[in-house]
Amino acid sequence: MKRKNRKERCPVQHIERSVLQAIAWHCRRELPREGCGVLLGSSQTHSANPAVITAWTPIANRAINPLASFRFDEAEWIAALYAAERDSLSVLGLFHSHPQTEAYPSEDDITGTAWDRMSYWIISYAPPYSPDSPNVRAYWLNSATNRIVPCPYKLF
Ligand SMILES: [Zn+2]
Repeated sequence: MKRKNRKERCPVQHIERSVLQAIAWHCRRELPREGCGVLLGSSQTHSANPAVITAWTPIANRAINPLASFRFDEAEWIAALYAAERDSLSVLGLFHSHPQTEAYPSEDDITGTAWDRMSYWIISYAPPYSPDSPNVRAYWLNSATNRIVPCPYKLF
């Protein structure tokens, strides 16, 4: 794991409004299953400008119990990585939905996912939220404390 150059403070995540709307729409279509996929943008690690999430790709959920967990389809995940490289994009985050539970990482989310160097987005439809107005939260792994912490985000 290369964690040397990693900023420990959670950076504000920048995401285009249309992307946020699109992933919420995708996850809504997947109901009652959890929807999932990747968030992409230009990598600007050496620039003062923050990276902005400008694109996304859905990935099929192959979890044994897709109603309460998610697991990326491996072939689609690999294809998404190749496509991102071809388009000079970086994977800046992962997203999935919680049809029935709040927008906090579950035990499986914490243990079953690569948290390194990307944000992790959860779209919840649990009351008081709904498919029409979901709750979206972003998270980040602070590798210094090894804790998952909420990330603020800004819409563009
Ligand atoms: Zn989850």
